[in-house]
Amino acid sequence: MHKPTKSLLPGATLGVLGGGQLGRMFVHCAQRMGFKTAVLDPDPQSPAGLVSHHHIATDFTDPHGLQELIHLCDAVTTEFENVPAIVLKELAAHRPVNPSAHAVSIAQDRIREKKHFSDCKVPVAPYDVIETQKDLETISIDLMPGILKTARLGYDGKGQIRVKTSNDLKLAWDELQGHREAEPLMPCVLEKLLPLEFECSIILARNTSGLIVNLPPQRNIHREGILALTQVHPGCLPVALGAQLIEFASAVATQLEYVGVLCVEFFVLKSAAPSTSLDGAYSLVVNEIAPRPHNSGHYSVEACDISQFELQVRALTNLPLTAPRQLCPALMLNLLGNLWLSPESTAEQSIWREPDWSSILALSGVHLNLYGKHEPRKLRKMGHITITGTDTDSLYKTLNQITKILGMPAFDKP
Ligand code: ATP
Ligand code: MG
Repeated sequence: MHKPTKSLLPGATLGVLGGGQLGRMFVHCAQRMGFKTAVLDPDPQSPAGLVSHHHIATDFTDPHGLQELIHLCDAVTTEFENVPAIVLKELAAHRPVNPSAHAVSIAQDRIREKKHFSDCKVPVAPYDVIETQKDLETISIDLMPGILKTARLGYDGKGQIRVKTSNDLKLAWDELQGHREAEPLMPCVLEKLLPLEFECSIILARNTSGLIVNLPPQRNIHREGILALTQVHPGCLPVALGAQLIEFASAVATQLEYVGVLCVEFFVLKSAAPSTSLDGAYSLVVNEIAPRPHNSGHYSVEACDISQFELQVRALTNLPLTAPRQLCPALMLNLLGNLWLSPESTAEQSIWREPDWSSILALSGVHLNLYGKHEPRKLRKMGHITITGTDTDSLYKTLNQITKILGMPAFDKP
């Protein structure tokens, strides 16, 4: 395994596996710092490929594509969570690569991920593993109502179905297996549906010496299983909760010997639930990890002195990690493809048009980020807006002016 001892300096070329919006923001940041970039993604129009010095438009497993990446790059990272671990291993034989194949392979598999959390003594939601039809018979009724989730390849609420009865569970299992009779079965986990008070996440970076720095804890609001709003301002989370989040997330990263940027997502419950109590009011349960920057950390580009993408650059190049400081309160609103639908659309025919950016950009403290995706689709992440300001009330006022312009339901201040 290639272990970097020296730092890579500006002028070096940094590679990223995956050409989505996370890769695009990594590329923007790396270029600002004077690095060159190479993106590997099969889509010739990928958001990151469009802005990178080099774009290798092959599959992640294509030997020629990987050879070219090794040839062009001094170090390689990933923005795509489902890149086969074997690819990271192969690259790591030639170049510094982080996060490691081991860490990514754990994040890709909910079963191994949950075991890792338990090994770190971080509480998880009650769950059971279902690997065969027969396992459905022995599931404890205590897990109902629950959510059946595929162990692999889920994202943005895809690959999961809510179930109330054992009959629902059987139907959900069949649905998640799809029409894959000839294929091996897709292992799943059944998680108990928890009464969430709210959700939050923490983004940290860890280097090869084991030093950890983190962004401020974020509170997240999901709609339809997809992140809708991230809140990072005084009063958005109880202080004791923030400290506990950092402690749990650091334990998860340290035990993985993680190097790079890691996001850990948590559920917050009223403290009657069986996990660690915080001031008697709340308890935390870890949901999942993402071995890369995360949608809930996008605000850091405009609201912090070091963004999550700069942390990724610094960790990859073994440059110093210093603790990011938040410069002002912030909100981040996701822009999904639905917002591009014209009111004239019908059930049969979608008519697309550009949202009214002029009215939105007329408001103070608005930072529009669009990912350069050519085609809107209903739940596709097309961009986000970060809102910054000096006081929290004015942020929410601006936010709800924006939601009104976009025709979305409003958000309340916590
Ligand atoms: P993403 O890729 O957006 O992070 P995902 O597809 O990996 O999402 P999860 O994070 O497991 O899926 O779940 C998506 C959302 O569904 C959670 O953020 C939460 O709002 C809700 N959810 C998931 N599991 C539970 C649970 N056990 N109890 C209550 N709500 C849950
Ligand atoms: Mg999630």
